[in-house]
Amino acid sequence: MNKNTIIYMDKIVKSYQIGKSKLTVLKGISIEIKKGEFVAVLGPSGSGKSTLMNIIGCIDVADSGKYVLAGQDIKVKNDDELAYIRNKEIGFIFQKFNLLTKYTAEHNVAFPLLLRGIDKLEAHQRAKKLLESVGLGDRTDHKPFELSGGQQQRVSIARALVGDPALLLADEPTGALDSKTGEEILDLFVELNKKGNTIVMITHDLDIAKRAERIIHVKDGEIYE
Ligand code: ADP
Ligand code: MG
Repeated sequence: MNKNTIIYMDKIVKSYQIGKSKLTVLKGISIEIKKGEFVAVLGPSGSGKSTLMNIIGCIDVADSGKYVLAGQDIKVKNDDELAYIRNKEIGFIFQKFNLLTKYTAEHNVAFPLLLRGIDKLEAHQRAKKLLESVGLGDRTDHKPFELSGGQQQRVSIARALVGDPALLLADEPTGALDSKTGEEILDLFVELNKKGNTIVMITHDLDIAKRAERIIHVKDGEIYE
């Protein structure tokens, strides 16, 4: 681990209690991801990808093991501190976009900055700039239902980028798109990675994972590179 390490996990264990039995979903996962990498986490359904993503994304915490995100030891944090780290360090991209349906593209993108207390005018200026950078400069006033799936995913990518996070964390980002639109989103990821963004993309599809520089395979809660 050095100053270029964005994700450092050492022997991460996570179990779920189901009735009287305990299901160990992550069985001692150790990963290191450096600044500027584009990594795919590949595994079949039920292998523990979402559980791992929730821990990487500070949505959930491990039972044991060490997790350091952008130099911060996650174990010592309370819920408010975790929420702050989540907002500051991670740009989330979900399969189903998770946009606010009542708001325009620009407001959706500005939203994480407004949550941080950034001035409204500045937040909207930055949102506009990010939408332009993902090719949606002429769609800033559209609401999600007035946009195609691919366009909605671009809005969510702009939203993920707007706070200049240490990490882009994408869960099956092309899962709700047709294959051609999915390719365009993957092209955008490659382009963003070339510009220096660190990307972790969760997928069950080998062809999609191959677009990343590095693949981490998850199987039965263990990893193989
Ligand atoms: P993936 O995203 O790779 O499909 P998950 O991380 O969602 O895998 O799930 C891994 C395993 O953990 C599955 O067997 C699933 O049923 C179980 N699991 C996930 N979340 C919970 C939960 N909240 N409570 C109990 N079991 C869970
Ligand atoms: Mg999953």
